[in-house]
Amino acid sequence: MNLVWYRNDLRAHAHRALQEALLAEGPVMAVYFLCDAQWDNHGVAPLRRWYVLHSLLELGEQLAAKGIALHVLDAGDFSQVSVQLAELVRKHEIRQIFCTREYPLNERRRDEAVAKEMKQLGVTIRGFDDSVLVPPTTLRTGKGTPYTVFSAFKKRWDVWLEEHFSLPGLPDRQTPEPAEFVGKKQVDAAIGKLQVSASLTRIWEPGEQAAARQLEQFVSRHLAGYRQYRDYPSLTATSSLSAALSAGTLSPASCFHAARQAMADAGARDGAACWIGELAWRDFYRQIMAQYPRLSWGKAFRPETDLLEWDNDNDLFDAWCEGRTGYPLVDAAMRQLVATGWMHNRLRMVTAMFLSKHLWQDWRKGEDFFMRHLIDGDFAANNGGWQWSASTGTDAVPYFRVFNPVRQSQRFDAEGKFIAHWVPELKTLDNKTIHEPWKQPLLVPDYPAPIVPHAGVRERVTESFKGVKEAWDHLQDQVKGAEV
Ligand SMILES: Cc1cc2nc3c(=O)[nH]c(=O)nc-3n(C[C@H](O)[C@H](O)[C@H](O)COP(=O)(O)OP(=O)(O)OC[C@H]3O[C@@H](n4cnc5c(N)ncnc54)[C@H](O)[C@@H]3O)c2cc1C
Repeated sequence: MNLVWYRNDLRAHAHRALQEALLAEGPVMAVYFLCDAQWDNHGVAPLRRWYVLHSLLELGEQLAAKGIALHVLDAGDFSQVSVQLAELVRKHEIRQIFCTREYPLNERRRDEAVAKEMKQLGVTIRGFDDSVLVPPTTLRTGKGTPYTVFSAFKKRWDVWLEEHFSLPGLPDRQTPEPAEFVGKKQVDAAIGKLQVSASLTRIWEPGEQAAARQLEQFVSRHLAGYRQYRDYPSLTATSSLSAALSAGTLSPASCFHAARQAMADAGARDGAACWIGELAWRDFYRQIMAQYPRLSWGKAFRPETDLLEWDNDNDLFDAWCEGRTGYPLVDAAMRQLVATGWMHNRLRMVTAMFLSKHLWQDWRKGEDFFMRHLIDGDFAANNGGWQWSASTGTDAVPYFRVFNPVRQSQRFDAEGKFIAHWVPELKTLDNKTIHEPWKQPLLVPDYPAPIVPHAGVRERVTESFKGVKEAWDHLQDQVKGAEV
């Protein structure tokens, strides 16, 4: 018996592990382990859990139709996975396990424990790097180190894909007898325990089929204009495929393939190239996470920035969370996040930088809040985005660059449509005042004044970052001196 072990790759198509399992000799079954404790420890949003569990329901049916029984076991925590897997292996005489590799620290530890156990049982494990386009340790600088600058990474990434890219397909098997979706009860029970509001779930459609349709629609309607319109949050111009990509109901290979095919049309070439660039960012942060485990311990990529002394002001933090900062674009974005479980990329940068630089709150608090709400909550991308915005990360925005939330608003929501939708208190304002309502306070008695002034933020941030850089250099000198 061959076993496909499903994790964050909840699809039946373009799935290398499934493809290889079907090509191997012998029947195929599949398993998924429910690990609530992992979700709890990482603050995974109820909406994301809902998305995963409902996608699992669809996957179970799809696999059953292909003659593959999906078992769902409630492991509770990663520590129980190897024990339960060993039982399954013995019971079904499994000889080979096929899975998609995962790179976060806990997942790697889980897999190491499993590998040990399986070795004893004589079971072979075959892992595939299907959750990325380029496996995370493949590309190295001339010095043999991981790439930490995106532009240099992207150049090599393009070349590698040109030579190696292939889209996994499903081998045709003799018409199998449909199997039973044996894990359905467990998934239903897990769904029954979830508490997530219908106002959130009605916006989203889980599962592989919905993701495939969404990709098709995005490519045909919006890909050509992606570069031009992607920064405007009031437009539908980006794919909204992040939830599908992070739960694996869609593979990055399918996205890359679709974008490359679209490039045959000269009009779509520029938009497609730009969108492929975002898939490269996704890979970039994944290879950083895989190669710098300290990120998984909550550390900053730039060690000197861990010396920064953040303010710990719950009132400021709560105002940010609740969209009451008095800066309309920031507030609109935060309300969008809480109401939909998703936020536009430009606004993720604006709100993250506002929390870390204007409010001088530890970026880790914001990272956690995002995880607790995002349907696409994904450690590598979320951590990468937060550390980019807070200037503590790899290839991050320079610390002296501070987005002016009013200018961002005037530039990317010029007519104030996005703001008017999410901050209805401001919807009667004209498209000039809506960006700076404090200039007409009598018109908006229910809307707060700016919680902190923009003036002076850049200077304070610059001074703090310079201070820790000097302190860090001094520490390094002392260490070197002690070594001599
Ligand atoms: C502070 C912050 C936090 C973020 N947290 C997450 C997160 O938890 N999960 C997540 O998937 N993305 C995260 N991002 C990246 C990005 O904002 C989202 O991927 C994007 O907004 C999703 O919308 P979309 O699917 O329409 O993207 P599109 O513009 O259509 O892009 C296509 C795909 O490329 C990937 N992608 C796009 N931009 C980035 C990026 N900057 N970094 C990594 N991958 C990217 C995503 O998988 C996305 O679905 C974060 C960015 C910032 C600045």
